[in-house]
Amino acid sequence: MLQKKVEEIKEKALKDHIPIIMDDTLKEIEKILKPNPPRTILEIGTAVGYSAICFSNLLQDGGHIDTIEREKDRIEEAKQNFIDVGVENKIYIYEGDAVEILPTLDKTYDMVFIDAAKGKYPFFLNQALRMLSKNGVIFADNILYKGYVMSDYNKHKQRTAVRNLREYIKEVTENPELETEILEVGDGLAVSKKKVM
Ligand code: SAH
Ligand code: MG
Repeated sequence: MLQKKVEEIKEKALKDHIPIIMDDTLKEIEKILKPNPPRTILEIGTAVGYSAICFSNLLQDGGHIDTIEREKDRIEEAKQNFIDVGVENKIYIYEGDAVEILPTLDKTYDMVFIDAAKGKYPFFLNQALRMLSKNGVIFADNILYKGYVMSDYNKHKQRTAVRNLREYIKEVTENPELETEILEVGDGLAVSKKKVM
């Protein structure tokens, strides 16, 4: 992969204020996947494709990523970025609202990365669980949302998002099929591994 190009994509995204995956979050995901590289990845929230490009390095040979994005400009930029880096054959973008697209998918994924509308995390979780392979892992980014999720201050504008992120944490923690850790890397990362039963 053209590392210099990846670096350029990252710099441009940061300049454009696109909330791309943070370095320490990515490192943590790499560490977790290393012993057991995924064959298939589902990402919810492509933006300009930075995280998908990084994840494509973590796939098994012949592996594949499906990613979902609803904003036209970002989709076009992501497609170009995939071509520029030479990963366009490994990554497919579903174009549209994940809330509508997810229920139409019927595949299995070894890893799901949830990184879109925070108010929809519980819905994304249910869809992810439906398609998660055994031994699969679900990551939810921004799960601590700048500290709002763990504080009792509840009067900010993002109240719906916070309520839904808390609901997500409750569901993954209480689900007997999952082993969950909430990591304080980046903006918070929930890691939920499917238990081997
Ligand atoms: N994963 C990217 C960053 C994603 S930012 C990275 O780390 O590089 C979140 C993206 O999710 C935004 O581009 C936003 O347009 C998209 N998004 C938010 N809600 C969505 C939804 N319901 N369906 C599809 N895309 C959504
Ligand atoms: Mg994020």
